[in-house]
Amino acid sequence: MAFSYWESKEWLEGLDLGIVGGGIVGLSAALFAQKQHPNWRIAVLDSDPFGGGGTSKNAGFACFGSATELMADRITLGDKAARDLVQTRLDGLRLLRETLGDAQIGFEPSGSMEFFRQGGMTRLPSNSEIFDLNGWLSEVTGVPDTFEVIHASHLAERQAPEHECAIFSRLEGVIDTGKMNRSLRKKVAAAGIDLITGLRVHKIEPQDSGWHLHVQRGDELTPIRVPNMIVATNAFATQLIPHLNVQPVKNQVLVTAPIPDWDFRHSVHLDAGYVYARNVENRMLIGGGRHWNVDAEETERRLIEWMHSLWPRTQDVAITHRWTGTLGIGDTREPIVRQIDKHGVVAVRLGGMGVAIGMSIGRQAANLLSME
Ligand SMILES: Cc1cc2nc3c(=O)[nH]c(=O)nc-3n(C[C@H](O)[C@H](O)[C@H](O)COP(=O)(O)OP(=O)(O)OC[C@H]3O[C@@H](n4cnc5c(N)ncnc54)[C@H](O)[C@@H]3O)c2cc1C
Repeated sequence: MAFSYWESKEWLEGLDLGIVGGGIVGLSAALFAQKQHPNWRIAVLDSDPFGGGGTSKNAGFACFGSATELMADRITLGDKAARDLVQTRLDGLRLLRETLGDAQIGFEPSGSMEFFRQGGMTRLPSNSEIFDLNGWLSEVTGVPDTFEVIHASHLAERQAPEHECAIFSRLEGVIDTGKMNRSLRKKVAAAGIDLITGLRVHKIEPQDSGWHLHVQRGDELTPIRVPNMIVATNAFATQLIPHLNVQPVKNQVLVTAPIPDWDFRHSVHLDAGYVYARNVENRMLIGGGRHWNVDAEETERRLIEWMHSLWPRTQDVAITHRWTGTLGIGDTREPIVRQIDKHGVVAVRLGGMGVAIGMSIGRQAANLLSME
């Protein structure tokens, strides 16, 4: 289906910047680019009405890494790069809260817990490991005791054995993902940026001083010429740039019916963050399980089994919502954000902590575009 004269003239011609992907990265990049170039006409193109990636489907953890995740990152990335990554996440979370406001994103400074199960893939770090981790992190968190070992048996709604311990992370929180996505879209609209949904970019092609975004409508492909482009399609990045080291992986989320008098405050990480749980308006949300490498049905069965055994009161309630989303991961937890050429930038592979790091990466993408 071809575009009408009016559609072409009003929406697709004369753009200064075209952004592919309307998740947290693409939309933030649009906001920062617009600040730097107030006269630019910017359009963000997304194939899905609400955004088909993690931004509309995530679990709402405003997290920068559990103790065991950060211990692993120090080994894979080295002390400096791992700490820089935490800094970028903390900066991104601050930007998100400042740009949209805590009420608009439903931010709650809940703190989080990391639990350890017998036979699980992680063990409780020793006190000296936690002391070392806290010292290494204090430079970026500004507190001497980011993590603390506590007794899990004292936690509300958890029937833990007497001596079981957990790690409390005091600086993490949760957001309302729906509110965040919606208020980010409102902010983008208020800044005069067009978010055009329902348009899939089938192919990108470099042109003299710019790019062609070939968009698909029905059976027809139409090139849109943009002098500047940002690709922010995260898990789906290799569909447009095949050589990138990004793998799409599925992640499942379940939400129960409301639980009467449910006293559950902290968000929870298990198995190095591969399984996660939190309270959502007195419902239990549990998700993850991609490390089991089993099909969707078996993943759901195991998530429910874990939930029932860790929080017995969830046995009495039905699952009311279930969905699957796609994460973009790679060899390390570092996102890919770099110039493809003078007029094109790619900002993808956000991994499992995109809520916190997303705006930082959007800002980096916009800054890279302005570099000669
Ligand atoms: C189930 C799940 C739970 C998660 N939970 C958390 C959490 O609790 N905390 C956390 O920090 N992170 C979480 N994440 C990760 C986080 O959501 C992502 O890292 C983050 O949202 C990525 O943002 P993004 O803008 O890079 O990409 P996305 O939000 O994935 O956006 C990419 C967009 O590109 C669009 N697109 C793709 N290809 C094309 C194309 N060819 N043409 C046009 N449009 C295209 C897609 O429709 C999509 O809207 C979770 C992810 C999933 C899947």
